[in-house]
Amino acid sequence: MPLAYHDAHNHLQDDWLAPHFDKIAAQLTAIGLRTAVVNGTSEDDWARVSKLSLQHSWVLPSFGLHPWDAGNRSPAWLEKLSTTLAAHPGAGVGEIGLDRWILERARPDDPRLTGLRRAPLDEQTEVFNAQLALATRDNRPATIHCLDAWGALWEILRSTTIPARGFLLHAYSGPAEMIRGFAERGAYFSFNGSFLDERHARHRETFKLVPPDRLLVETDAPAMLLPQPWRTYKLPPAPTGQPINHPGNIEAAYAGLASLLGISVETLTIQVAANFTRLFGR
Ligand SMILES: [Zn+2]
Repeated sequence: MPLAYHDAHNHLQDDWLAPHFDKIAAQLTAIGLRTAVVNGTSEDDWARVSKLSLQHSWVLPSFGLHPWDAGNRSPAWLEKLSTTLAAHPGAGVGEIGLDRWILERARPDDPRLTGLRRAPLDEQTEVFNAQLALATRDNRPATIHCLDAWGALWEILRSTTIPARGFLLHAYSGPAEMIRGFAERGAYFSFNGSFLDERHARHRETFKLVPPDRLLVETDAPAMLLPQPWRTYKLPPAPTGQPINHPGNIEAAYAGLASLLGISVETLTIQVAANFTRLFGR
C-alpha cells in the first residue's frame, strides 16, 4: 500500500508559493499527501485559504490571527473570523498563539516582521483567548504557535476550557518537562522538518518523549527550511531573496522523525494518520 502523509501545519496560501502552486500540488499528490492543514494568519489571507480548500479536497482550512499579526488587526477582526469559520464547518482555528521572541529576541530589522506592530504579550493573550474560545465553542481543532512564552501558555491552557478534541502545539520547541502536562490537557505535538538541523538537537531529544498517540508531522512551508541534505524538494528563493521551504519536504520530515524514533516510515505514517484523524477529523 502506498504511504499516506499528513502535513499538520503549513501555509500553502502564501504569496511566495503562488507562482509555483500548480506544480507543487501535482508533486504533493504524487508523494501521497492525504491532507494538509493550511493555516491562515491574518484577516488578509483567510479568503485565499478558503479558496484553496474549495479547489483542493486535500486542503483542510484553518483560520486564525497569528501573534505576529495580532498588532495589525482591524476592529472587526473577531466578527470576520467568526463569519469565516461559520462558512467552513470542518475548519480549524489557527494559527493562533503567543510569541515573546518577537518582543525580546527578534532583530528590529528582521524582514519577516517588516510593517508589523509587535503586540505586547497581554494584548497577544487577549487575542489568543478570544480565538481559543471560538475553537472551544465549536469543538474545532486549535493550532497553537508558541515561542518563548511556554509558562504563559501553560497558565491559560491549564485554567480555561479548551476544545474537547484537543489542540496542536505546532513545531513544539518547549521544554521536555512540559510535554506530560500539555498532553494531559489534550495536546498533540507536530515535528517540523527543520528540527533535523544539527542546531536543533534539543528539539529532537524532546520529541522522543512525546506519547506516540500524540505525534504529528509538519512542514510550516514556505517557512522553516530543512537542513541541506534533507531538502528533497526545492524552490527558487522569494523575491526578497529569502529561501523557501517546499511542502513536498513533508516526506523528508517523516523520514527524519522515523529514524530518530527508530521505527519504520510505514509504522510512523500509520500512527500519524490515526492521530491526525482523531484531532482534525479527516
Ligand atoms: Zn505556521
